[in-house]
Amino acid sequence: MLIESRPVKLTTRTGISVDRTIPHARLKTIGAWCFIDHFGPTKQTDGMVVSAHPHTGLQTVTWLFEGQIEHRDSIGSVQLIEPGQLNLMTAGHGISHSELSLATTEVLHAVQLWVALPKEQMNIAPAFEHQADLPVINQPGIRAKLLVGEFLGAKSPTTHFTELVGAELRLDPGAHSIPLNPLFEYGLLLVEGDASVAGDELPKTSLKYLAPGQSAVSVTSSHGALLMLVGGVPLEERLVMWWNFIGRSHEDIQLARQEWNTRSERFGEFEDNIGGWIPDPELPSVRLSPR
Ligand code: MN
Repeated sequence: MLIESRPVKLTTRTGISVDRTIPHARLKTIGAWCFIDHFGPTKQTDGMVVSAHPHTGLQTVTWLFEGQIEHRDSIGSVQLIEPGQLNLMTAGHGISHSELSLATTEVLHAVQLWVALPKEQMNIAPAFEHQADLPVINQPGIRAKLLVGEFLGAKSPTTHFTELVGAELRLDPGAHSIPLNPLFEYGLLLVEGDASVAGDELPKTSLKYLAPGQSAVSVTSSHGALLMLVGGVPLEERLVMWWNFIGRSHEDIQLARQEWNTRSERFGEFEDNIGGWIPDPELPSVRLSPR
């Protein structure tokens, strides 16, 4: 299955647009990965200025190809992130954060991915970790950075709660065989260059989905490629995703929304250089149902 990205405007001061692949009408999740946004490359004038907003029930994974972003959150984290480093925010029961691309940054190019927390962990205490020294894999024709999980004999220290993998792959021109875990489903997102995955040529910022049961996939590239690989054991649970919240019921979302809009202590407080906070959009008049 090939999922083409669609442009989505984010509610921020600068109204930035991202290329979103999942969730998609035909594909909600890949393992516990439930959200894939690609952003840029763009000039600083369209930089990222995302005021304070909340999350529940998920982990946010921020990964840069170019630029610098400052993260601040309600558990006191202040963290600059640069290309090749990982910011992982585990929202659990509730957290709020802001993201600001620095003025020194000429070009910003990034992905933000979400991982759904399983039901047993969806209400854990919020946490934040910065990984500046992730495993690097060098094989003939392939250079990879391992964000989370295990891949090509390396193991990432990043905290996760379900069987997952996430990696940045840089491929030289030519034909490659990428080993896969047959228990996992996968997505390969083309960020730069050109790539055909299992015979399908990928348009830029689109994603090739691979069902479980395969022990390798062939990727060919004429000029070289930068790809993100995500995978995991298919999620057995159905989720209710609304705005920045993940829950299991309409009521979970309604409560999170109300507690954010009334600035309840669930989502804490912090100071940043942006100011303000993003109110939750209105819920639709129909009940949100798990999908
Ligand atoms: Mn966020």
